[in-house]
Amino acid sequence: MKTKGTRTNKVNIVTLGCSKNLVDSEVLYTQLKGNGYDVVHESKKDNAEIVVINTCGFIDGAKEESIETILRYADAKDRGVVDKVYVTGCLSHRYKDELAVEIPTVDAWFGTNELPRLLKTLKADYKHELVGERLLTTPAHYAYLKIAEGCDRPCSFCAIPLMRGGHISRPIDELVGEARSLAKRGMKELILIAQDLTYYGLDIYKKRNLADLMNQLADVEGIDWIRLQYAYPSGFPLDVLDVMRERSNICKYLDMPLQTGSTEMLKAMRRGITREKTEALIETIRERVPSIALRTTLIVGHPGETEELFEETYQFVEKMRFERLGVFQYSHEENTHSHTMVDDVPAEVKQERADAIMELQQSISWELNQEKIGKEYKVLFDRKEGGYFIGRTESDSPEVDNEVLLPAASNYVRLGDFTKVRITEAEEFDLYAELVTE
Ligand code: SF4
Repeated sequence: MKTKGTRTNKVNIVTLGCSKNLVDSEVLYTQLKGNGYDVVHESKKDNAEIVVINTCGFIDGAKEESIETILRYADAKDRGVVDKVYVTGCLSHRYKDELAVEIPTVDAWFGTNELPRLLKTLKADYKHELVGERLLTTPAHYAYLKIAEGCDRPCSFCAIPLMRGGHISRPIDELVGEARSLAKRGMKELILIAQDLTYYGLDIYKKRNLADLMNQLADVEGIDWIRLQYAYPSGFPLDVLDVMRERSNICKYLDMPLQTGSTEMLKAMRRGITREKTEALIETIRERVPSIALRTTLIVGHPGETEELFEETYQFVEKMRFERLGVFQYSHEENTHSHTMVDDVPAEVKQERADAIMELQQSISWELNQEKIGKEYKVLFDRKEGGYFIGRTESDSPEVDNEVLLPAASNYVRLGDFTKVRITEAEEFDLYAELVTE
């Protein structure tokens, strides 16, 4: 069935979920471009014959969003606006048999490790020469670098290993090659991602090799910022901190999901660490890398989290004063270890606990931000919006952390450039600035 109007072989890739999924979409984008397809990412215009939806299957909310997106494009196909709808990514990997029955309009479903089959279905060849030549969907000045796939950790609540498989590190030379290619194309900030960065190398180099990788990436010309996201606390390789302290182009920033501040809950979550050891690690990190910005994420409402145990997490947040923090409500995911437990924390209590933590973090972040007023920072400007140039300091990762706002009426900066600013005003999360004229 030929859709209305003249169109060339256009593919619209729609990405849901995390930055790791975004990298997968970029790899697909690059391969399709390399095969002569006209490819767009997240196009709002319904002028593509083919839609590939890269889904997320992490927790309830993310699954709902993925299904809504699939149904939207299935409906577009039924209305003749789209010819083909293909679904890949984590939700498809986990539920494709059920979903294929429930949503028969979708032409085909693919797992997270089925890029070759997806390409074949699109009559495209897998081009090895394009490995490392990834086209970006992010602004050209920053890029995610996925250093490994999958995860070997046993966290009781987590379905990711079910969707992404076991941990597989990518070889250092391949990663350095990709970083070089990205830097040649103007990338200045490289964000290292994986399910667990700290596991890097244990499979292919038989040792934790993140520090070595960081050093080799820091040697790549043109990269001003290297950022670490998704580190795991237990068995944390301390040599990473020395490299972070010694190399000027490695951000003094670490994202380390800790999930809870209660030893009893850490045990139930099978995190392999205690509250005491977590605090000791945080102390060591802050000692070895002064001025580091620590980001963490927590889960509230895990089975067995009584009011008293939640209080322990609340006090943990109060005491540790993280620079950046996010919170998830526990989602009862089938085939995970936690699913064998009773989901005994009511939804409204999960919500109350998440609100309480974020309210506390808001006041901590406000206090920490006040200390920045009058100080000067190197800021990477990402976009212009609502009368402001919006950027980030070294302590802020894209999409998830604080932002610096520079009035556009009285200032001009080039997006993608580093610019020195002075903080003039500070809110809970946003900072307002003026240009520093040398
Ligand atoms: S480290 Fe734990 S929470 Fe993170 S992806 Fe692996 S199993 Fe899931």
